[in-house]
Amino acid sequence: LGGRITHAIHQMRNVTVIDEKAMNECLNEITRALLQSDVSFSLVKEMQTNIKKIVNLQHLAAGHNKRRIIEQAIFGELCKMLDPGKPAFAPKKAKPSIVMFVGLQGAGKTTTCTKYAYYHQKKGYKPGLVCADTYRAGAFDQLKQNATKAKIPFYGSYTESDPVKIAVEGVDRFKKEKCDLIIVDTSGRHKQEASLFEEMRQVAEATKPDLVIFVMDSSIGQAAFDQAQAFKQSVAVGAVIITKMDGHAKGGGALSAVAATKSPVIFIGTGEHMNQFEVFDVKPFVRRLLGMGDLSGLVDKLQDVVPKDQQAEYLEKISKGNFSMRMMYDQYQSCLNSGPLNQFYSMLPGMSAQMMPEGESESKIKRYMTVMDSMTNEELDSSNLKAFNESRIIRIARGSGRIVRDVMEVLEQYKRMTKLFSNVKGLKMLKNGDMSSN
Ligand code: GDP
Ligand code: MG
Repeated sequence: LGGRITHAIHQMRNVTVIDEKAMNECLNEITRALLQSDVSFSLVKEMQTNIKKIVNLQHLAAGHNKRRIIEQAIFGELCKMLDPGKPAFAPKKAKPSIVMFVGLQGAGKTTTCTKYAYYHQKKGYKPGLVCADTYRAGAFDQLKQNATKAKIPFYGSYTESDPVKIAVEGVDRFKKEKCDLIIVDTSGRHKQEASLFEEMRQVAEATKPDLVIFVMDSSIGQAAFDQAQAFKQSVAVGAVIITKMDGHAKGGGALSAVAATKSPVIFIGTGEHMNQFEVFDVKPFVRRLLGMGDLSGLVDKLQDVVPKDQQAEYLEKISKGNFSMRMMYDQYQSCLNSGPLNQFYSMLPGMSAQMMPEGESESKIKRYMTVMDSMTNEELDSSNLKAFNESRIIRIARGSGRIVRDVMEVLEQYKRMTKLFSNVKGLKMLKNGDMSSN
């Protein structure tokens, strides 16, 4: 999505006169990109109409920067779509709040419950986790395991089959234990079934939650709107958490979930681990969606993956496009070691999907690294592909025990990365407070 929208705006940049036609072409391209990113059709239509209203070319005074106005209109509209206008219920300390999690099976409820509890525990809350999922075998064990890891008290049963009974007992227990954040994990079904919604209704009625959080897998595609709406119609959803944003997910589902539930997204899940959980922030999210990058997030991630004393230099190099083969090597290395680098990449403007294409698996990275292991220091530090003449390529192939095509592939990959990094001039734009000052 980011790539296409940025491209559409860029196209417009190259047009000398922005007339109705250029504007419509840009809007159509953006429309297609949004649809492909799982934003529902009616939302896209609405957005298009609004942008046209804002950017009424006829009424724009001469001399105004029309491209900037269009960019800002898109940015503003997307932000508006993600803001339902009222904040989610925030639990208060030392006063018991009950938070119920709902969502389809596999959406990430149980994982997210613990992340949510852990996040608040670090902020000084006293959480307790209740497993009211009696549908799935092993549900209680999973919650127990997660809770134990995070040192959070939990409640559940291996024998009781009535989710309402367990939910009520758990809530009572934790109220007695003076927990101020009582979290009720519920079951899901693979499909949206009447029996599931009936169960949700009953648990909600019995526990009277202060907040119902709808957990949605970001990879469900166009189904997002209907799914979110179905849950909203059964229980009083008051907030949304989008999971698996670390995958190839397109952000569009978030827009649909907000529209369908009229509730804000409060967190996003970015991995299976407890701390792969981020407070949702509209503007950086939209910037990322549009491929504009998120400088503050980027710098945070940089701190995770690049040694402190090298960070400034690194950022400087990236933004200048001085990207060497060795830097590519180092990045692959950190990719293999940790993984947060993928998230790091996804924050660079216009990067995410291209950077780690599907299938660019570990074995491929390792193969690239084997090839690079046979390069000389001089070759690794150079950022000039011309240096790789035929005899060198053959030498590298022999040295690494690979074929010439493998070496060519590494060079191709390097070229692609360099090109992407040189696009990161956007970083500078952000630094200068262009889009980020919205
Ligand atoms: P539930 O059925 O809704 O309770 O879903 P679970 O919490 O059991 O999660 C289903 C699967 O998704 C598990 O394998 C989780 O580890 C995984 N999962 C949950 N959240 C995330 C996330 O943010 N990123 C990734 N990559 N995996 C997640
Ligand atoms: Mg579960």
